[in-house]
Amino acid sequence: MEKKTNQFKAEITEMLDLVVNSLYSKKEIFLRELISNASDAIDRAKFLSLTDKTLAADNPEWKIEILVDKGAKTLMVSDNGTGMDAAELEQNLGTIASSGTKAFRKALKEKGEAGAAADLPELIGQFGVGFYAAFMVADRVRVVSKKRGGDAAFQWESDMGGSYTIADAERDGFGTSVMLHLRDDQAEYLDKWRIGELVKKYSDFIAYPITFRLLDTPADEKEEDRKRREEDEKKPLNTMVALWKRAKKDVKPEEYAEFYKHLTHDWEDPFETIPFSGEGQVEFKALLFLPKKATMELFMPQQKRGLSLYVRNVFIGDDIEMLLPSYLRFVKGVVDSSDLPLNVSREMLQDDAVIAKIKSAVTAKILSTLESMKKDGKKYNEFWNSFGTVIKEGVHVDSTNAERIKKLLKYPTARSDAGSTMFLEDYVKAMPSEQKDIYYLLAEREEDARKAPQLEAARKHGCDVLLFCDPVDEFLTESLWEFDGKKFVDIAKGDVGFGSEEEQKAEKEANDKAAKELKPFIEAVKKELEAKVGDVRVSTRLTDSPCCLVAMANAMPPSMVRMMRAMKNDVPEEKRILELNADHPLVKKVAGLKGESLSDAIAMLYDAALIAEGSPVTDGARFTRLLSDLMLKA
Ligand code: ADP
Repeated sequence: MEKKTNQFKAEITEMLDLVVNSLYSKKEIFLRELISNASDAIDRAKFLSLTDKTLAADNPEWKIEILVDKGAKTLMVSDNGTGMDAAELEQNLGTIASSGTKAFRKALKEKGEAGAAADLPELIGQFGVGFYAAFMVADRVRVVSKKRGGDAAFQWESDMGGSYTIADAERDGFGTSVMLHLRDDQAEYLDKWRIGELVKKYSDFIAYPITFRLLDTPADEKEEDRKRREEDEKKPLNTMVALWKRAKKDVKPEEYAEFYKHLTHDWEDPFETIPFSGEGQVEFKALLFLPKKATMELFMPQQKRGLSLYVRNVFIGDDIEMLLPSYLRFVKGVVDSSDLPLNVSREMLQDDAVIAKIKSAVTAKILSTLESMKKDGKKYNEFWNSFGTVIKEGVHVDSTNAERIKKLLKYPTARSDAGSTMFLEDYVKAMPSEQKDIYYLLAEREEDARKAPQLEAARKHGCDVLLFCDPVDEFLTESLWEFDGKKFVDIAKGDVGFGSEEEQKAEKEANDKAAKELKPFIEAVKKELEAKVGDVRVSTRLTDSPCCLVAMANAMPPSMVRMMRAMKNDVPEEKRILELNADHPLVKKVAGLKGESLSDAIAMLYDAALIAEGSPVTDGARFTRLLSDLMLKA
């Protein structure tokens, strides 16, 4: 083929600039990234050759070599994995995986100029652009690759000048070699001892031997020195033991952390490491991790996620979603089972009984880990802040474990401090003896919820109210049903009563009496607001505010309305009930007005109810006019 020059996609240039200009102290991680890619390529080659024997017709001894030429100042990472053809070189090394591209740019922007350099390593890892880390230590990179199943080799080369070239090349055998022309100040990576140290530190668990070889041996090397060197170079730099097979007590936390980073491309240590094995029905070993932070991909529906699966040490695939329920999709890790056939395919995993058993064991283990974590309030809060939103989905989708999951939920409440959250069991413990139900209030923002007039009577009676302010909470109300035998009740919907039975009875009588007295006024309000509210009545919820809006007992939840509208259904505006506080001086005063003053005052009462719950008023101009009239009169 003709040698051709291509421009990098803009975001790569942007990123390369940052890579080169960032003063990142841990440039050494470039080696881990390249070894990790090499190991992935061998994993894939091994897996593909299970079904297509011709791909491994050369009967390869799977390995990764690090070849150094001190004179030429080059370091090469070479593997005999899948290899890439010209199109793949272009696709894989000329663009960032398109799903990642947008997210990467966005994150880059959000970090801003100042933060960008400092956070770059984290970003590189997060968006799977590990290969480009090579440019932290090299000013020119050449990749020579020959794809298994193909017959020609190609090379990709770039000096980061905004473009790269693709051309024909020569390569003995299949696989990929990534050659780095090290910058003058990066000569340390030519040193065998230094390379050995890095492999031990970051890549010890890689399942294939990683060896070192010096290419420009001294011309005057003595025979015995040569022999000794060659013997020495045969020994792998890594121990290659699958970490999940080793007993927990024999593994250092740093080793787990490095493995986690290799697996996830996360730049940070894991939040929690969970090694365990399944015995009995299915035999398997698992090594699971909880990350520290949620990534955006958690909320991208197309994104694959799950655990990596090995069968007897052979890599089958990553992101096997059948191994995890969707609400635990933030969990990372590896499962290795000897109870599955080697030639399983993703499709077969779908309804495999062994996989289903592993999934339920994995689920139970994670839930029990979280249950024990509850004892450490600070740690649990950290976890909850990152993944609480995702866990909540479990109540809805996993009926088997719903009761366990409910015990993991935390909510802000009307009586607790802003920023703190409460477990349901603690809420129930604090309920006054006459409170039968668990109260909640839906709102878009916690600040609005805390100020909602609907909370007033609950407060007066010493009842706390859960504040459901996360968008998933609203869906959840349909599956929460009850906890500890107590129903969940929306305090801004239908009828609610607080206090003892006698108190409620007395209140009802007082209300009926007030309603009778206010009847003409209530009728006037109904007429005036006919188009906006479904009913007007005296409230049991209010103590300090003059009025509030509540939903009809059988109203469709707002989320359902939004969903149906999104599906192009014509859903009429659901009318709500305007509740009046009969004891409030303003209500008493307005009830005595007549004519235009009465209609204006009613309009303002309604707007006040909207504003109190954080909703916009329907006619801003009219509201402002009424308000200024009122102020002028005062
Ligand atoms: P990531 O490995 O996170 O996908 P990289 O930028 O490191 O991101 O690599 C991009 C892609 O290039 C990889 O997904 C892989 O398809 C391909 N690739 C990189 N190194 C190799 C290699 N040694 N052998 C085969 N393919 C490779």
